[in-house]
Amino acid sequence: MEVRKLMGLCPECGNLRDALEDRCPFCDCLGGPLPHPELSDQIFVIDLEADMPTVADALERLDRLLRLAQDAGVKMVKVIHGYGSSGKGGLIRAAFREGLLHHRWANRVREYLPGESLKAGSEALHGLSRHHQQRIKDLRGGSQGNPGMTILVLA
Ligand SMILES: [Zn+2]
Repeated sequence: MEVRKLMGLCPECGNLRDALEDRCPFCDCLGGPLPHPELSDQIFVIDLEADMPTVADALERLDRLLRLAQDAGVKMVKVIHGYGSSGKGGLIRAAFREGLLHHRWANRVREYLPGESLKAGSEALHGLSRHHQQRIKDLRGGSQGNPGMTILVLA
């Protein structure tokens, strides 16, 4: 299942809260949320194109979201970065893929699968555990073979 909201358990009061908010709305603490067991089976979607950010802003948003996702127990992330030879989508995609090649997120990302390589029976899926393969099969229609997205398997 794909989720866009990252929920974590508050380390102070134990309530389920939005992991993207710094402050807990229940007890007002600033502690980072604890891993939420359900998140490890879900695919967290990060849309880098939302709000049309600059390339630098998009990568910074990704830095932060990957850290929070990892802390919250997420194992698989679907990054939507768009594509094209011109325009912001193309620039974000290029910068993002370059960041992956240069191990910018090496401490968080164990493997990545470009959307264009995600096709049934493809070589790219072969090395993945059965568990991860099943998750990728569960991806929403339109993800398979889509060059505008990349799947990250978190460390
Ligand atoms: Zn709290």
